[in-house]
Amino acid sequence: MVAFEQFEKQFPTDDACREFIVKQRWPHGVRCPRCQSGEKIYALKARPFHWVCKNANCGGRPGYRFSVTTGTIFMDTKVSLKIWFKIGYLMLTSKKGISSLQVRRVIFGEDSGTDWRTAWYICHRWRAAMRGDAFDLSGNGPLEMDETYIGGKDRNRHWGKKSAQRRKAAGPRTGLEKVGESVGYGKVGVIGAIERKGNVVARVIGDMDARTLGSFARNVAKDKVSVVITDENPAYSHAFGNHTEHATVNHGRGEYVRGNIHTNNIESFWSLLKRGVVGTYHKVSKDYLPLYLNEFSFRHNNRHNPNAFADLITTCGN
Ligand SMILES: [Zn+2]
Repeated sequence: MVAFEQFEKQFPTDDACREFIVKQRWPHGVRCPRCQSGEKIYALKARPFHWVCKNANCGGRPGYRFSVTTGTIFMDTKVSLKIWFKIGYLMLTSKKGISSLQVRRVIFGEDSGTDWRTAWYICHRWRAAMRGDAFDLSGNGPLEMDETYIGGKDRNRHWGKKSAQRRKAAGPRTGLEKVGESVGYGKVGVIGAIERKGNVVARVIGDMDARTLGSFARNVAKDKVSVVITDENPAYSHAFGNHTEHATVNHGRGEYVRGNIHTNNIESFWSLLKRGVVGTYHKVSKDYLPLYLNEFSFRHNNRHNPNAFADLITTCGN
């Protein structure tokens, strides 16, 4: 990614942003967001960056009008696109994430009077655009898989202690483990898989039971991953198909690395996420946690991609 000053020079006006969106969104010519056709699309002379679709089968009333931002995260915004772009840039380049309060201070200025909710909304729209392909893994090298809790008091504990404590707090199964229950520790379960030197995939899950973990594991690993490494959580013991070798490290016995067998990469990702969510955002709601997972995964998966911002604009309208 270029330096911030250079980025600002690249987008001196809102029209420069609009031109960039056109180029990224419709590299082969403008298409109608409603019928997806690239034919019979006419620019409105009096209104730059606006078009009309004259396809008979476009649906609704004939002559559908749209703009460069129709159907994108920028739709109907009253905030300058220059500001949107700067916020998107900051989110992609700050390794630990950036809070709405920081955004307000950096972008709008301390005494701008801008409502922090404006910054909050824009950040969340960007996070929504950062969703990656569902299970975008290459299949090269070992895959580390692990689950954790975000929020709550015992978030850094080992799974065995966590479940013991949860059982103690909850008594017999009460559904406390479900996402959405704010009883007890108010924490949300997350599962993730990471390819060394590759991509990460993470999801919010309701139950930490063998079925839920197993179904994620099978979806991610499929047959193309040859080796999966987890801790000794028994939920993983029957989670993989015959083509996948499953290796474990026994954290309970104090074993963390056995040669190439460790889960250090996924654990680093968790700690970055937790520092970001807890440290930067203070409080994270279960409803928004998937958006934060988008953000942290997108940043990780594009850490070597100089065109990450352009790629993000490409998907901002789909
Ligand atoms: Zn159309």
